[in-house]
Amino acid sequence: MKIARNLLDQINDHARADLPHECCGAVGVRDGVATKVYPCKNEAASAMKFEMGIDLFHALEDIEERGDELGAIYHSHPRTEAYPSQTDMNWSEQYPGVEWIIVSLRDGETSPRSFHVTRSSVEEVPVEVV
Ligand SMILES: [Zn+2]
Repeated sequence: MKIARNLLDQINDHARADLPHECCGAVGVRDGVATKVYPCKNEAASAMKFEMGIDLFHALEDIEERGDELGAIYHSHPRTEAYPSQTDMNWSEQYPGVEWIIVSLRDGETSPRSFHVTRSSVEEVPVEVV
């Protein structure tokens, strides 16, 4: 997707703020361009996985009210690379058709990448900063 620098920074800031746990959230999109970032609480409070609860529900409500679409689910990998894990692949069916934005904090550097993920495949898609 296309995303403005300040929205990308919100994701990066969230990832750092939630260390040592994974952070997670949603991104609203319109015509392929990100419109808003929705930080969500990681209900799993884990460095290994994320679970979104009521925050995601509220995000989806706001996205619908604005006439946007759910464009991406994002989460962080505190200690591993920005690439979907087997766990991510297993859970991908929960969020069909959206991009998976992953931020790695492994090298102390945030570097979001985005993917189309299914249970059996991973395909990287560009994150274009606009
Ligand atoms: Zn993951």
